[in-house]
Amino acid sequence: MSASATSYISRLRPLRLPRVCVAVTDSDPSALVDKAEALIRDNTFLEFRLDYLPRPALALPKIKRLMEYNPHLTAIATCRRAPSGGKFQGSLASQLDILGKASAAGCQLVDIELQSAAKCKAEQVQRLRSRSALILSYHDFRATKNLDTTLEKMVAIPADFYKLVSTATTLYDNVTMMKFLEKNGDRHSLVGLCMGEQGIISRLLGVRAGSAFTFASVSPDERTAPGQITAQELRSTYRIEQVDVATRVYGVAGDPVVHSLSPAIMNAALRRENVNGVYLALHAKTLKDLLNCVRDIPIHGLSITMPYKEAVLKHLDNTDSHTTKIGACNTVVRAQDGNLYGFNTDAAGVVRPLEQRITLEKARILVLGAGGAARAAVFGLKERGAEVYILNRTAGPGQKLAHQARARITKRPDLKKLTFDVIINATPVGMGNTRDSPLNENEINTRYLFDMIYDPAETRLMKMAKERGAEVIPGIEMFVHQAARQFEIWTGKPAPWDDMMRVVILALQERTARHTPKAGKK
Ligand code: NAP
Repeated sequence: MSASATSYISRLRPLRLPRVCVAVTDSDPSALVDKAEALIRDNTFLEFRLDYLPRPALALPKIKRLMEYNPHLTAIATCRRAPSGGKFQGSLASQLDILGKASAAGCQLVDIELQSAAKCKAEQVQRLRSRSALILSYHDFRATKNLDTTLEKMVAIPADFYKLVSTATTLYDNVTMMKFLEKNGDRHSLVGLCMGEQGIISRLLGVRAGSAFTFASVSPDERTAPGQITAQELRSTYRIEQVDVATRVYGVAGDPVVHSLSPAIMNAALRRENVNGVYLALHAKTLKDLLNCVRDIPIHGLSITMPYKEAVLKHLDNTDSHTTKIGACNTVVRAQDGNLYGFNTDAAGVVRPLEQRITLEKARILVLGAGGAARAAVFGLKERGAEVYILNRTAGPGQKLAHQARARITKRPDLKKLTFDVIINATPVGMGNTRDSPLNENEINTRYLFDMIYDPAETRLMKMAKERGAEVIPGIEMFVHQAARQFEIWTGKPAPWDDMMRVVILALQERTARHTPKAGKK
């Protein structure tokens, strides 16, 4: 190792790099640097992905100027070759040349992948360390496996950081990555995370397991790796800067969960109430995978969503009688002794908004559907003394629920003649569109119409009910109430209801705006 390399490293180590490095990309050198400049105020650690430029060398004088004007900025230069998953089509020699020049331009770190480094002479790689710290990186775009053997190969090449990035195909792959970081983090400076939607745990918790830092994207459209989260989300939604050994981990588990609003609402609540916790979307392809993570990470609380609400019951150590009756669990708590307890807060999600408006005792309530959500509604309302009627597409489940809950069955042809205090839609009809409705206009004879669907914010059923003079209770209220009850169960604190509601409304508006074509655009 050259004297200059040693002195640089001794300078870099105590520097303690920021936790989040934002990967900056563009196909135009000026735009790349302009983008970096705009980011500097909030992000003092950037990665220049030079391989996204058709001619990377053209950006280097601009990067040099940027680095000179911003002495507090730390930058990684990366010019990943196409065979290693990057975009650079040039030769190994030109990759080394560009990285050397990036280092001369002031980038304090340069990244070279193991595949390139292994083909170079030792002196060529070490020359890169004369001015900058060297990150030796390895990416596995298929799986998370052989991390120890890969590291063994990597450490044969002296470097300042060893970066191992794998792909999570299960949630447990995150545990594998974090155990690897914990085991090796004392001996080497490591950067480790899993790519892919299922890698979110390692992107958030890797930094407390021993990863020197993690990567983030500028925006959702500028991800440099699958599953990458934006810097804004990492900081404000997940509060990565505050994650420490005491941070409790919560999550929504289901398949799929990619569109879930739960992370937005729950992280906002945790932040508002100053709870040291983080809440993640956990895409569990099997329950077994999820439950293994609950034990090993450990995960303190889970929101359970489709398709596991019923199946999870037999894996729990105990459930309250209410949840047992409903036969579905949407909330799991992991107690200090490791035991798992199950609750159902969907019932509170139905009962609470109604209690704010009417007396439930003796109220005539029609529930459409007999699935998990309908069961929670029917049992919850029966416990409050309501007169509950059930209408389900298939006779069997409707009759079974009516029998178990001592509710009544009604038939579709009778609806025109019947009036109710409340009609609740607990079917998915109308979800994701404004065309479908589970009822016709002349079947909606009620004071209140409660649609459990919250996307779209106004369903066709809600629109028709309004036109018939009914007051509408949107599904978003159920969503926020059931989430608020989960928060209370997990933290013992009252939920910040207003904040949670505001966050969900905002998230839904943003989602609608993203999916609505802009005026003038075909
Ligand atoms: P589920 O267990 O799959 O039950 C679906 C129910 O809807 C079944 O009774 C089914 O009848 C009926 N159904 C399905 N398609 C139908 C159709 N085309 N026409 C008539 N009936 C139909 O689902 P779930 O978990 O109970 O959820 C039901 C709805 O509630 C979903 O839209 C879900 O998003 C919503 N939900 C909202 C919240 C919230 O917080 N706002 C919470 C939980 C659920 P069959 O028996 O005939 O199949």
